[in-house]
Amino acid sequence: MNVDKKLIAAIKKRVGNKIWSKWFSTFEVLSISENEIVFSVRNLFIKDWLEDKYGRAIRSAIKEVFGRNISFKVIYKEVSAVPTNMKRQESPISSYFIKPPKESNLNPDFTFSSFVVGSGNETAFKFAEKVAVEPGRFSPIFIYGGVGVGKTHLVQAIGNYIYSNKPEVNLVYLTSERFMNEMIKYLRESKMEKFREKYRNVDIFIVDDIQFLTGKNGVQFELFNTFNELMDKKKQIIFCSDRAPSDLQDFQDRLISRFKMGIVIEMRLPDVETRKRIARKIAEREGGHLDEELLDFLAENIDGSLRELRGAIIKLIAYQEIERRKVGIVEAINLVSHFLKKANTIDPGERLISVLSGMFDISPSMMRSRTRKANVVMARELGIFFARRYLKMTVRETAKLFGRSPSVVSTTTRKVEDKIKGNPLMKSYLNKILAHISPAVGKFS
Ligand code: ADP
Ligand code: MG
Repeated sequence: MNVDKKLIAAIKKRVGNKIWSKWFSTFEVLSISENEIVFSVRNLFIKDWLEDKYGRAIRSAIKEVFGRNISFKVIYKEVSAVPTNMKRQESPISSYFIKPPKESNLNPDFTFSSFVVGSGNETAFKFAEKVAVEPGRFSPIFIYGGVGVGKTHLVQAIGNYIYSNKPEVNLVYLTSERFMNEMIKYLRESKMEKFREKYRNVDIFIVDDIQFLTGKNGVQFELFNTFNELMDKKKQIIFCSDRAPSDLQDFQDRLISRFKMGIVIEMRLPDVETRKRIARKIAEREGGHLDEELLDFLAENIDGSLRELRGAIIKLIAYQEIERRKVGIVEAINLVSHFLKKANTIDPGERLISVLSGMFDISPSMMRSRTRKANVVMARELGIFFARRYLKMTVRETAKLFGRSPSVVSTTTRKVEDKIKGNPLMKSYLNKILAHISPAVGKFS
């Protein structure tokens, strides 16, 4: 056994098989030197997690294998570089049959079935499906949009679809950066002809993050030539970019006019409802169970890149696994605060009170008073239920917040639970509260 393997085995022994397969699946030894060992993982949040939670296990494994302490670090390695066959977790037999004939660079998680269609991505999805079924019919396609709108997922879904249906097709997915690096490699070895040949025999050519080639004339020239050859042969070309063709600066005009030649589609961030569905899909894909309310809360309050939404979901799933219990919204706000719309400074309980008073037009002191006025009772009961079930506050905390006894809190919670069943109005109130519990301070006031 080489030393990498010994080290891995020693760590595995310490954390146990279950934790290993859950959190260390992308963990690798990157380098070992006299005074430092570097590991890599393909997930930024798991990286923090491993350092925090398993630092001790890793340190002690190092000591066992090397007989002394050596410092270590875990670095994050981009996921896009993972070859398909490394991420698949099938048995050797099934992967023998399913595995694409060559390394495809595709992330097997990025499929059509794991892609939620909704506002912002409908048009792109429609074309993506058409391209997957009938490659070459709409070519070239140029998809653009900001960070984390789902471009890479969608174009890799095309790739995965074609791979599983027609494995014999010569499909290439790469980032423009990788295209450049390869070109440089061939150039150094004076094998440019070989490089050209390689890409001129491609049936489906997907180039991601084209904006990287800004100002890189030589590569643009090669890309232009490859493009022309493939178009002559009526092959399928797909480009992704973080901006529209005409906004690409320092790009040759003739290349830009090629980009514009076919179908140009913008992808945008989805609306809240779509984000909620995406949140569920991501949680499912990551194999974790977060409460519906929590997923909705995340979708409501992380309105930027879907990468952030995913990051938050992964972190919370990890946290739940390790802590072996459900996480509520209050805890989630602390754990993923850096992803949330705005720095969250107000205590969630206090915010709940202020949301309720806004919604039902009553003052916080009324809410806590003894009054039995119908709207006050309604607000209070919903609030107690929300604090318990959504915010996962304890009975005592809830009692204190609403100025009631613990036993009243318990009965009220059960009462509302019964009332909700078959009562869409109550449910819609709860959704409204949820939407307003936003950490964006002052949103409701
Ligand atoms: P981009 O390439 O536009 O920066 P990605 O394709 O990398 O964005 O998407 C970021 C993350 O969000 C990925 O994990 C991706 O799977 C997920 N994602 C984006 N859009 C969707 C969608 N419509 N359905 C499901 N997951 C999505
Ligand atoms: Mg991308």
